[in-house]
Amino acid sequence: MILINYLCPSNKLLQKEHVSMINNDDFQDEIGDNHIASSATNPVRNDAFDLPDDKKIELIKKDVENILQTLGMDLTDDSIKGTPNRVAKMFVKELFGGLNPSKKPNPSTFENNYKYGEMLVEKNITLYSTCEHHLLPIIGRAHVAYISSGKVIGLSKINRIVDYYAKRPQVQERLTMQIVQELQKALNTPDVACVIDAKHLCVNSRGIRDIESSTVTSEFGGKFKEEQTRREFLAYIKLETKF
Ligand SMILES: [Zn+2]
Repeated sequence: MILINYLCPSNKLLQKEHVSMINNDDFQDEIGDNHIASSATNPVRNDAFDLPDDKKIELIKKDVENILQTLGMDLTDDSIKGTPNRVAKMFVKELFGGLNPSKKPNPSTFENNYKYGEMLVEKNITLYSTCEHHLLPIIGRAHVAYISSGKVIGLSKINRIVDYYAKRPQVQERLTMQIVQELQKALNTPDVACVIDAKHLCVNSRGIRDIESSTVTSEFGGKFKEEQTRREFLAYIKLETKF
C-alpha cells in the first residue's frame, strides 16, 4: 500500500475545524498522528543556536537520564549508564545536526562547459530523517533531477543537500520542498524536481503498525510541471540499476 500525504488546503481546514472541538493536547496529538505540518519551514526559535553544541549535549544528557529514570531504568547498569550521553551526542551532532545553518553544505556550482542540455537525475539517494511528531526514523530514497540553465552541481553535493535537510526533526513534505528550493537557488533555475519514497517507523512500528506502507511526496519546479518532462523523470526513477 502506498500512502500519499500532501500538505493541502483541506488539511488546514481540518485543523481549524478541530480547534473548536477538542482540547489543545488532543489537537496536537491529532496533528502529529496525521502528520500534518504546521509550517513550510522548520519551527525553530530565534535563540536556537545561542548555546554551543557541548552545552546542548550536557543539557540533553540530563533530560535523557530523567526519562530513563522515570521509566524505572537502573542507570548504574553498565549497559545503559552511557546511554544518556550517547543519545545527547547523537541528537546534536548526527540526527538533528542539520538544524544548524553553519553545517549547511556549500552548494558550489560550475559552468556547464560541455553544454549538456538534458535532465540530470540522481536517483536512489539514501535518506535517513526523523519524524518531528514522534521522533522516530524516516528511512527512504530521494530522487532528484534538474535541467541546467548554465550551471551544474557536483553529484555528491546533491546527496549532501538531501542529508543536510534530512538531519532535522522533519515532515516529508517539507523536506521534499526544501531540497528543491535549495537546488533552485544554487543552480539558478526553477527546473528542479524531487520525489521521496520513505517508510515512517511511527506508522510501520507503532500505532497502526503497517510495515508495508510507504509515503511518496513530490515537488516539481519549472519545466518539471510539464507532463512530458515529468514523465521522463519518473521513467528514469523506475530504471532498475544493475552493475
Ligand atoms: Zn510520525
